[in-house]
Amino acid sequence: MSAPNAPVPRALVALVGRPNVGKSTLFNRIAGRRAAIVEDVPGVTRDRNYADFLFEGRALSVVDTGGFEPESRDRLIAQVRQQAQLAVEEASAVVLVVDGREGLSPVDSSVADLLRRAGKPLFVAVNKVDTARTEEEIPLAEFFRLGFGEVHTVSAEHGRGVGELVEAIVAKLALPELPPPPEDAEEPEEVSESDRPKGDIRLAIVGRPNVGKSTFVNALLGTERFVVSDVPGTTRDAIDSLVEHRGQRFVVTDTAGIRRKSAIAQSVEAYSVVRAMKAIDRAEVVACLLDATEAGVEQDARLLGLVAEKAKALVIVVNKWDVAEREGATQDWYRKELYKRLPFVSFAPMLFVSAKEGRGVTRVLERAARLVEQYRARFPTPALNELLETIQEEHPAPLAKGHPVKLYYVAQVAYAPPTFVIQCNRPEAIGEPYRRFVENRFRDAFGLEVPMRLVFRERKRRSRPPSKRRG
Ligand code: GDP
Ligand code: GDP
Repeated sequence: MSAPNAPVPRALVALVGRPNVGKSTLFNRIAGRRAAIVEDVPGVTRDRNYADFLFEGRALSVVDTGGFEPESRDRLIAQVRQQAQLAVEEASAVVLVVDGREGLSPVDSSVADLLRRAGKPLFVAVNKVDTARTEEEIPLAEFFRLGFGEVHTVSAEHGRGVGELVEAIVAKLALPELPPPPEDAEEPEEVSESDRPKGDIRLAIVGRPNVGKSTFVNALLGTERFVVSDVPGTTRDAIDSLVEHRGQRFVVTDTAGIRRKSAIAQSVEAYSVVRAMKAIDRAEVVACLLDATEAGVEQDARLLGLVAEKAKALVIVVNKWDVAEREGATQDWYRKELYKRLPFVSFAPMLFVSAKEGRGVTRVLERAARLVEQYRARFPTPALNELLETIQEEHPAPLAKGHPVKLYYVAQVAYAPPTFVIQCNRPEAIGEPYRRFVENRFRDAFGLEVPMRLVFRERKRRSRPPSKRRG
């Protein structure tokens, strides 16, 4: 039994360049390759500048550091350099995107100087080279003079050369191949208790600026007089504190402190998102703070969408409840409104706190611990199959072209998040409504408040020679 969501070393590729060279087109082209690791979560905002993707079994993320409107020509260089600086701090590899048709510009050269000093793997993507003919016409030599190891001609719009660029990045970074997802296992493995992880719980505190993350963490640390120390060996770009509550240790990654550390950080949204993304990657459970006094639906939805996509356990923490309460808001009303707007996180519990008054703060830890227990849980196969039988008696899957659709057998194949493979006769005939119905019955039966995965698979023949197993 495996944990597909155990923190994977994810290489971050940053796209840098002046406006209009085609960064966001290239971003979409690269992110479009993302496949198995991230499933589409209905309702999640798609418009954004970071994405996880898989390339030949390697896990990567890509961030488009651009997306700003230049204030003026003078400011342009400064802004692009600032983006580049952030990219260099955060990324494993940096791609300077330039416009092949326009040739090298002073901004490109200036940014290149800055990047070269950083000592990270660097690539030039000479974009808008749509055809072999254009390739002959553009002044490629001047891009080589930038002194970067790798110059690639690409057409972000048509996809030309993009695969080769990503391949070169993967090769340069020597990324390890991920094991295949557990859903691909030939035979579902049975539940075993022996490899149950114990020990510390990794909790990430995220939320848009000013929701009260710092206040929350301070309250957490202050109230309980926890042992606070930097945890050695963790990534240098996150602030981790060790917190103990009722005998359970938490490694708390606080994305608020990070923002404060760097002055330029505050001006660039992509930066805080990347940091949050990394914190979420490394966590098992995420406390996402919202501000009860101020709707920031768009930004909240982005962060929550990330958590949902990465299938982490989640507790939604509505902060500043002291103010909202005085103004007459009720928890029931708020809860209903929020789940209606953000249906993709309706599985997650919602707590109401006042970080400022220290109210409800330790309840978040207690809830997080309970969620992690579910997240790591093993569900006994007999109980699962009993449930499957009950579900089908109550409400069998709709007929497929007049033929019955039968669910034969279910087993849990992974935890964190709990992942169940259901063997059936016609997986392709099972529509979204029935899938959701089965999921909800699983949730009800086990009181699940964490993300889960259901995979419908055609029943396989039981025995096969081991030599035929895929590696
Ligand atoms: P960004 O500001 O760097 O993110 O640039 P965009 O991705 O928004 O692209 C700027 C313009 O260049 C858009 O009109 C794109 O359609 C165009 N563009 C981007 N990539 C290519 C390409 O490979 N070939 C051509 N011909 N145009 C492109
Ligand atoms: P961060 O940017 O998410 O770290 O937010 P801060 O912790 O810096 O808080 C932003 C502002 O909200 C500060 O002025 C805090 O005093 C205030 N604040 C934080 N939590 C609460 C709360 O529970 N109630 C009230 N009324 N104000 C709060």
